[in-house]
Formats: sequence, C-alpha cells, structure tokens
Amino acid sequence: MNQAALSGKVALVTGAASGIGEACARALASAGAAVVIADMNMAGATRVADAIVGAGGKALALCMDVTSEAQVNAGIDEVVRHFGQIDLLLANAGVQIVHPIEDFPFEDWKKMLAIHGDGAFLTTKAAYKHMKTSGRGGKIIYMGSVHSHEASVLKSAYVFAKHGLLGLARVVAKEGAPHKIHSYVVCPGFVLTPLVEKQIPEQAARLGISESDVVKNVMLKATVDGEFTTLADVGNLVCFLAQDAGALTGQSFNVSHGWNMN
Ligand code: NAD
Repeated sequence: MNQAALSGKVALVTGAASGIGEACARALASAGAAVVIADMNMAGATRVADAIVGAGGKALALCMDVTSEAQVNAGIDEVVRHFGQIDLLLANAGVQIVHPIEDFPFEDWKKMLAIHGDGAFLTTKAAYKHMKTSGRGGKIIYMGSVHSHEASVLKSAYVFAKHGLLGLARVVAKEGAPHKIHSYVVCPGFVLTPLVEKQIPEQAARLGISESDVVKNVMLKATVDGEFTTLADVGNLVCFLAQDAGALTGQSFNVSHGWNMN
C-alpha cells in the first residue's frame, strides 16, 4: 500500500491492543493515517501506540470499554480534541464465549451482545455525529466474521451478534449516504490470535476431540486449502476499504480462504 494513501486521515480502532485490531491499526498507520488505539487493556494499547510512534507514525492510546456509553463518548470526543477530526472507525473489539445453546448462561449471552452489538452501536453513534457535522463524511468498518454468514455449533451468541452487524452496516450506508458516511463489514475466517488460541482447547474439550482435529476438522475444514487467514490479509482489506469512494458501501467482504464465497 502507498505509504501516503491515508495521509491526513484519523482512524480509531477498538480492540486494537491485540490480534486483528492491532494488525489493522498498524496497517492503517503504515498507510499514513493517525491511529487511535482504543482498548480496555490500556497497557496493551500503550504498547501498540508507542510502537507506531517509534516507527515514525502518529498514534494515541485510549482506554475505552466499548460497552460503556460514557467511555465511548468521552473517548471519541478526546480523539477529535487531539487530532481535530475522525475519518474512520473500525469497530473491532470482540470476545468469544462458547457453550451449547441449552447450557448458554444468560449472563454470557448478554456479555457477548454488549461487546459486539452495543459496542458497535455506541462507537458508530459517537463517530457518526462528528463525521456528519464535520462535512467530511467518513468510513465505518465493522469487524464481522465468516460467522456473519455461516453458523457453527456452540456459537449462538457470536453468530447472532456477527449477523447483526450486517444489518447495522446496511442502515448506516443508507442513513449516512447524504453525509458521505460509508460502511462495510469485514468477514475473516479463522485467524491465529489470542481469541482463537483460547478456543482450540475449549472446543477440543467440549467436542471430545484432539486440538489438531479442532484446527483441521472444525476450524479449517470448509476452507479450500486448509489455511488460516492471516493478520496481513485482514489489514490489507481494511486499508483497501478505507480508500473506497462509496461504491462498495453497505456490503460485507469475506477474507476466508474460500470458507464462505458469498
Ligand atoms: P483478540 O482477543 O486478539 O483481541 C480482542 C481485543 O478486544 C483485545 O485487545 C481486548 O482487550 C479487546 N476488548 C475486548 N472487550 C473489549 C471491550 N469491552 N472494550 C474494548 N476492548 C475490548 O481477538 P481477535 O481475534 O483479534 O478479534 C478481534 C475481532 O475480530 C473480534 O470482533 C472477533 O470477533 C473478530 N474475528 C476474529 C477472528 C479470528 O479468527 N481471530 C475471525 C473473525 C472475526
């Protein structure tokens, strides 16, 4: 990617202290954007922001629990105070909790919907307001999943939440169009991050199979080549969408080694 492609843009990435969010924040910074590393893990956010600044980029670490309306609103106002604007939101923060549906604790269901659903809504609402009043418009990208299109056993809350992001993005595309606000859902297959590394032994225990069988016969079974999606694959797609002029708005994009081909 051209190092100046996103020069002058300000991007906020939630859940950017680890995994996919960190990789996307680093990719956006490499393309010239000033990047806000928003996470409830402030030590991790500071580590990522320091690394970006150390490499010559612009970054700010922000403590933000995406389920807290007060923290989200204060954090996004702080971004606008610090950098003068917000051009891109990547609503990425997420966790995974797996249970069979008949044993799924309601508290875990509510936690999943709060992080994935409320978090996407609250950050959208706060960023949208600034994008609209600035007259510059902006991009709102949701980190969906192949589970925005497919279902898997044990993942009722995750699949419900990730499907919901498709609907939210479509509404944002329609309401945002007059204000040059565009929306997208990025849908990765399995990427080896802490979130997935934690699932491998959990699923092995629940399904009564080995960890290598979970990888081969559960996680990667439906891909065309048995390969994990990489952090770079996802970062490249996010940077590409960050430059779209609006022709692709409202859509979702799989990056999954053929697991889902819609
Ligand atoms: P990860 O565990 O490596 O990182 C998640 C980050 O989100 C962490 O830094 C964590 O502190 C942060 N976070 C969690 N709850 C938060 C909250 N309430 N407020 C703010 N930050 C919070 O996970 P990852 O694999 O990088 O996942 C990132 C996103 O990508 C998630 O939305 C996940 O569903 C999605 N995703 C992951 C995969 C995969 O295979 N790893 C595939 C498809 C989609």
